[in-house]
Amino acid sequence: TVETRDRLRIAIQKSGRLADPARALLASCGLSWRESRDRLFCYGEALPIDLLLVRDDDIPGLIADGVCDLGVVGRNVLREQDFERRRSGTPTAFRELRPLGFGACRLALAVPDDWTWTGPTQLEGRRIATTYPALLRDWLAGEGIQADVVTLSGSVEIAPRLGQADLICDLVSSGVTLAANQLKPVATLLESEAVLAGPASEFEGERAALAEMLLRRLDGALRTRH
Ligand code: ATP
Ligand code: ZN
Repeated sequence: TVETRDRLRIAIQKSGRLADPARALLASCGLSWRESRDRLFCYGEALPIDLLLVRDDDIPGLIADGVCDLGVVGRNVLREQDFERRRSGTPTAFRELRPLGFGACRLALAVPDDWTWTGPTQLEGRRIATTYPALLRDWLAGEGIQADVVTLSGSVEIAPRLGQADLICDLVSSGVTLAANQLKPVATLLESEAVLAGPASEFEGERAALAEMLLRRLDGALRTRH
């Protein structure tokens, strides 16, 4: 059960790639905050819209649990957790409301430089290191490939050199990190960017009106940017 609140609460990344652009975008919608000392919670001043500063991985769960109403998170994180919930039979509790035009990257398969890439069948029986096991498994199933998914929590790009995996499935933007690890991207599983995420169900009461106003302002801000 969700507590009754009249204020809207938005989760954004506390620090990292999406933290500053998320704040800047929300500020451009007319929001402002009084910073709390611990900087985990920012009380909305201009409007009754507060911020919760968290790790990006926590954002879908916070929305699912009704702790936050909205969140700014990479599509990659949202989709991964959505697929993971589906796999475990947990109902889908969040959805993408708007693409936000920053944080662009793609989830890609990358193989050692010396591989000659001939296509997905080359992956049969191979070990693939990733921090996105659900997205990878879904893609492999779609291609009809049986491979060994090695789930890591970070530093995926060094897994092949460490002998932990034959290839990787990781986020790529410039490709510099891959190249530095003698890897090359060969297939894209997901085109990603930061998105506004919200609950799968509709808002009620005061928060419905607030969310609607925020989305209208957001659409205006996004239009003038592009
Ligand atoms: P947190 O401490 O919040 O867990 P993190 O280390 O998981 O942070 P960041 O590295 O800040 O997260 O990345 C946040 C998001 O930025 C990614 O989920 C992705 O959507 C996006 N992004 C854009 N380019 C890249 C890139 N080259 N590598 C990783 N993420 C990228
Ligand atoms: Zn994270």
